[in-house]
Amino acid sequence: MRYSALSIFLNGLRGNQSWKPAWREPQPKSHYDVIIVGGGGHGLATAYYLAKEFGVTNVAVIEKSYIGSGNVGRNTTIIRSNYLLPGNNPFYEYSMKLWESLEQELNFNAMVSQRGVLNLFHSDAQRDAYTRRGNAMLLHGVDAELLDRTAVRKMLPFLDFDNARFPIQGGLLQRRGGTVRHDAVAWGYARGADQRGVDIIQNCEVIGIRRDNGRVTGVETTKGFIRCAKLGLAAAGNSSRVASMAGLKLPIESHVLQAFVSEGLKPFIDGVITFGAGHFYVSQSDKGGLVFGGDIDGYNSYAQRGNLATVEHVAEAGKAMIPGISRVRVLRSWGGIMDMSMDGSPIIDRTSLDNLYLNAGWCYGGFKATPASGFCFAHLLARGVAHETARAFRFDRFERGHLLDEKGQGAQANLH
Ligand SMILES: Cc1cc2nc3c(=O)[nH]c(=O)nc-3n(C[C@H](O)[C@H](O)[C@H](O)COP(=O)(O)OP(=O)(O)OC[C@H]3O[C@@H](n4cnc5c(N)ncnc54)[C@H](O)[C@@H]3O)c2cc1C
Repeated sequence: MRYSALSIFLNGLRGNQSWKPAWREPQPKSHYDVIIVGGGGHGLATAYYLAKEFGVTNVAVIEKSYIGSGNVGRNTTIIRSNYLLPGNNPFYEYSMKLWESLEQELNFNAMVSQRGVLNLFHSDAQRDAYTRRGNAMLLHGVDAELLDRTAVRKMLPFLDFDNARFPIQGGLLQRRGGTVRHDAVAWGYARGADQRGVDIIQNCEVIGIRRDNGRVTGVETTKGFIRCAKLGLAAAGNSSRVASMAGLKLPIESHVLQAFVSEGLKPFIDGVITFGAGHFYVSQSDKGGLVFGGDIDGYNSYAQRGNLATVEHVAEAGKAMIPGISRVRVLRSWGGIMDMSMDGSPIIDRTSLDNLYLNAGWCYGGFKATPASGFCFAHLLARGVAHETARAFRFDRFERGHLLDEKGQGAQANLH
């Protein structure tokens, strides 16, 4: 069924009785050409592009819970392509281009809203770093604008410009950045993949990976053994756990990242604002709630909840940036498990097992990457070679010492 204004009208006339489920609930087959572990954004996008772009339709996405229950439905919905390094910039810009046509592509309202992402700077050194990043973006054909203090004040008069510790000097703006309704992305890709024959198997946990002679033969699941010719892992925060079932030890640690939503307020924040002097970022949802977050909790965990110390830190940083929010009440908070790589950049690559492929290490920035990650992983699974925009995301960079360290923080997962 194609979604359109006409279909809403006609279904309304029929008492909304003829809507069909957006995807089937199939029983697993005994064999697939490709199995993807993880029904998050990346796994579902991979299955969609495998079927649509590469003609591989005998595919299953195996999800231990319901689709969208992981980070794809827990993130703060920000998309952007404001990266500095040549290995990152083309990939995230490719993703941005895919976002720009995603709703038409999927025939699904994902509320893609290019409302702008502004990174504030608070010192001369930070201004220089942001100028360099903005210039790198422009050289790659990505939009970037450096705003001075007056221009930022005109846009966002409620910020604390004269904060004694963190005076705001200006900001780096990417107008094409913005937000996308996160779980709609999972649903849209799931519907598109299902329409092309992909089986989405929910409530089915992968509990083992069977191997023979350096090759994967299939996966043990809570619904039985399923054979496959190729296996792709897209389990985000659980990547190291799933990979260990195949005897692999990944350069990844799992940490919690929390997010928060406030009570509904009248609209006052148009875009996304990030605080350059600490870890805080905020946007306002269509319902009026402030959607915000900060740093990861900093200790290793597979729990989808965080601790109060980070809540306090986030509240302090938010108040330093926008004093007026100090009396706003927080309605909800939650956590997600982040697959933190050692250099802060992802891995899309083959593994030491012949037909086992890995998509992981997204840290807390993988939502914006969803379309390109899905496309590039599908490319790798179907053709056996890396897509040109994802060449820098190979495993061997850790062996060669050629890290892709966007922030320049060094090889320490919790700092990225
Ligand atoms: C609070 C928070 C805020 C964030 N904000 C942003 C943001 O603003 N912008 C941005 O770009 N990124 C953001 N991120 C990061 C982004 O959400 C993730 O990097 C991205 O969603 C990860 O890819 P995914 O969608 O495939 O992951 P997930 O949705 O987590 O998918 C992985 C799936 O694998 C399943 N799985 C795990 N183990 C098994 C198993 N054994 N068998 C079967 N299935 C299994 C899980 O249940 C899960 O559904 C944020 C994350 C969090 C938690």
